[in-house]
Amino acid sequence: MVQPKYIFITGGVVSSLGKGIASSSIANLLECRGLRVTLQKLDPYLNIDPGTMSPFQHGEVFVTDDGAETDLDLGHYERFTHAVLTRANNATSGSIYERILAKERRGDYLGKTVQVIPHVTGAIREQIEKVSTEHIDVVLTEIGGTVGDIESLPFIEAIRQVRQQVGRRGCVFVHVTLVPFIAAAGELKTKPTQHSVKELRALGIQPDILVCRTESGFSREIREKIASFCDVDRDAVIAARDVDTVYQVPLEFAEQRVDDIVLDRLRLKAGPRNLEPWSEMVHRLRTPQDKVKIAVVGKYVDYEDSYKSLKEALLHGGLAHRLDVDVGWIEAEGITGETCAGQLDRYDGILVPGGFGIRGIEGMIEAIRYARENNVPYFGICLGMQTMVIEFLRNVCGVPDANSAEFDPEATDRVFLKLRELKGVEDLGGTMRVGAWPCRLEEGSFAQRAYATDRISERHRHRYEFNRPEYEEIITRHGMRITGETPEVDYVEICELPDHPWFLGCQFHPEFKSKPLEPQPLFTAFVGASYERRRRHGKSSAQQEAEQFLRLPGSRPRRANALNVVPAWTEEDS
Ligand code: GLN
Repeated sequence: MVQPKYIFITGGVVSSLGKGIASSSIANLLECRGLRVTLQKLDPYLNIDPGTMSPFQHGEVFVTDDGAETDLDLGHYERFTHAVLTRANNATSGSIYERILAKERRGDYLGKTVQVIPHVTGAIREQIEKVSTEHIDVVLTEIGGTVGDIESLPFIEAIRQVRQQVGRRGCVFVHVTLVPFIAAAGELKTKPTQHSVKELRALGIQPDILVCRTESGFSREIREKIASFCDVDRDAVIAARDVDTVYQVPLEFAEQRVDDIVLDRLRLKAGPRNLEPWSEMVHRLRTPQDKVKIAVVGKYVDYEDSYKSLKEALLHGGLAHRLDVDVGWIEAEGITGETCAGQLDRYDGILVPGGFGIRGIEGMIEAIRYARENNVPYFGICLGMQTMVIEFLRNVCGVPDANSAEFDPEATDRVFLKLRELKGVEDLGGTMRVGAWPCRLEEGSFAQRAYATDRISERHRHRYEFNRPEYEEIITRHGMRITGETPEVDYVEICELPDHPWFLGCQFHPEFKSKPLEPQPLFTAFVGASYERRRRHGKSSAQQEAEQFLRLPGSRPRRANALNVVPAWTEEDS
């Protein structure tokens, strides 16, 4: 087997420097030169996976085709490349220790002392090997956390061992650091970078490339200073400026020839760089012809990262039409029958995203009712599909107690049930349906027209299913259609109101498969329908702006702002 080459990405100084975007951008450039890449995230924390972590703490849980609940960086990896990611592409200290401890209990270590070195480091290396297949030219492994953290030590040691094994031409170390600007002194500071590199070197790793986050770039002198103090080649000190869109980062890296540096260090041959489609996409993003306003009525709207893929998918949907998608993030809990119209009437489309727990459900139902009654395009995702069906049953079909067993286990009309109750299968009780499932679409439906095919596959992450045996007849009699279902087990995947301009709910999460160069069809269709409404209503952007300006401040939607997190996390929200 041909051994792939490795790129290891570590971070220093502070967290949130965008290691995920840096890794994705390098991978993107290598793909643009015809190489086959994969990306992997190794997280030092002790949770087995992010599946049970709060969206307020950790942001979105990204889901792969094979049903792994992973770190949201895997979402970036997929959006920036064509890498096919699986369970093996994300691991945590927790998952590594779990494996080792299970082996220890089985007696696999034959009485030996089980230690961090060699056992934990060995298991980390096995994890890296898992994604190192013969179909891959370069494996990019990102180490979560910051160098110097106690829990990241075994990971740093493991990648040092890999270097020992594959040699200096077999791998490249990229270290992402910060070059802050101290306003009072009017100076950029290189000391944090120097210290961070010193820390890394003390652990046996000399970085080959430094990606230095900086507000607006730095001079040649600063570059030379960093190069000399950190013993890195001058051209390998990369200035990663703040940019208006993350999709700009590969272009910035290309300008500084990061791909050439990597290829040179790895002695890899590759074709010329074809960044044309990507830079055309970034150009389109920057030059929208008009805009469309979408309200997202959800539960975790104050924390930007909790709907990461959704936010990107909406942007991609806009890209497809060359529209700027202006998203209003509205806390569902703050919506009532009285306030609803005032909060929502400036929007061209309404979306209710996924979520867990009862908080905010009634507000979502009010928003959906508003969309249905006022012919506003509606897109419900997972929880947003469930609330859409419940709203329809309550307000159209005359079933006032319609509910999901998740929100009221004792409800008289339980329209969504756990698999166990629905199918009478014990072992599936409580577990999630997670990962890719096939779905068959009904000819002529909104979904089938959007996808332009009748067979699709989308990713799931949910527990409750539509109680088809009891409620299919009544909803279809009143005009709702089931337009998507799993071919074999007939789970309901999509519901629509055909007499509405665009009204669709899906049980899966289409946002996980959207990419800037391949916008997800349902998002494209939803944004298109919303724009259609905007045009028909004939309001120019200027008119709408003026109307919005005149509105009372009390009805303004809250904006995503990481610093403004409401401690609304409850046990039911996962
Ligand atoms: N809470 C719902 C369920 O478990 C919806 C989940 C989701 O939106 N991802 O079925």
